[in-house]
Amino acid sequence: MTARLLEGKVFAAKIKEEAKREAEEFAEAYGRMPGLAVIIVGEDPASQVYVRNKEKACEELGFISKQIQLPETATKEELLARIDALNRDEEISGILCQLPLPEAIAPYESEILERIDPLKDVDGFHPVNVGLLVMGKKALSPCTPAGCMKMLELSGIPVDGKRVAVIGRSNIVGKPMFHLLLAGHATVTLCHSHTENLKEICREADILVAAVGKPHFVTADMVKPGATVIDVGINRIAPKKLVGDVDFESVKEVAGAITPVPGGVGLLTIATLMMNTVEAARLQQEKQGETRI
Ligand code: NAD
Repeated sequence: MTARLLEGKVFAAKIKEEAKREAEEFAEAYGRMPGLAVIIVGEDPASQVYVRNKEKACEELGFISKQIQLPETATKEELLARIDALNRDEEISGILCQLPLPEAIAPYESEILERIDPLKDVDGFHPVNVGLLVMGKKALSPCTPAGCMKMLELSGIPVDGKRVAVIGRSNIVGKPMFHLLLAGHATVTLCHSHTENLKEICREADILVAAVGKPHFVTADMVKPGATVIDVGINRIAPKKLVGDVDFESVKEVAGAITPVPGGVGLLTIATLMMNTVEAARLQQEKQGETRI
C-alpha cells in the first residue's frame, strides 16, 4: 500500500486563503487589516530567513507588518520596552519574538515572552493561553500543532473518537498537540522518552504524531496499517539534507496518509501564524467591546 501524501503547500495555501478572507472581513468591520510585529534580536541566519518569510506572508495577505531588528547586544530591558510599545500599538494585533534569543538574554526567555499581551500572543506560548488551552477554552494556540489540526480538518481525516499517539511532550509541539486533539474529542496518549511499550501504543493509533527530533525514529513496525502519520520532526542529517522523525520510505507503505519532510508540516506554521493574527485581532476587538459595556 502507498499512503496518501499530505503535502504542506496544498494546505498552507488553503489556510492562507482563509486567513486572507477573514482578515478582509475584519478590515471591513473595523477599518484596518490585522498587523503582525516580529522582533528579532541578533543575526542568527536561520532566524533571519524565518522572519523574512513571515514578512513575505504578511505582504501576500495584505496584513500590516512591522519588523523590529535589535542588535545582538540588546539588553533585556530594551527588549521589554519594545514589547511594551507593541502591546500599546493599536495597529499591531500579533507580536512574535523570534527564538532563539542571544546567549546573554536567553536566561530571561520566559520573562520576555510573558511580557507579550496574551491577546497579542500569536505564538500561543503565554501561560494565560496555555491555561486556556488546557481548560478547553478559546485560546491562541502554538502554530505548528494548530497547523496540524487544520491540516487534518482540511483533509477530511476525522479526529473525534479516534485513538491518537503523540510522541514528544515539549511545550511547543507535543503538549499543545495533545490538548488540541483532546479538544477535538480524540483519545490521546502522550508519549515521551520514559514511555514503556512505545511501539505497542503507537500501533494502536489511528493518527500518529511524531515530534521527537530524531531522524527515522518512527519505523513501519510502529504504525497501524492505514493510520495517518504526521511528521513534525526536522532533522538536518547533512548540510543540504533534511529528514523528519519518520522513516518515510518504509512507513508510506503501511500508513493510509503521511506528511513528507521537507514539504509537510513545516510549511503550515507560517500560514497558521497568519490565521492566529486574525484571531488575535478579533479577540482584541471583542475585549474592547466588553470593557465599553
Ligand atoms: P524537544 O527536543 O523539545 O522534545 C522532544 C521530545 O521527544 C521530548 O518530549 C522527549 O521526551 C521526546 N523523546 C526523545 N527521545 C524519545 C524516545 N526515545 N522515545 C519517545 N520520546 C522521545 O523537541 P520539539 O521542540 O518538540 O521538536 C521536535 C521536533 O519537531 C524537532 O525535530 C523540531 O525541529 C521539530 N519542530 C518542527 C516544527 C515545524 O514547524 N515543523 C516546529 C517546532 C519543532
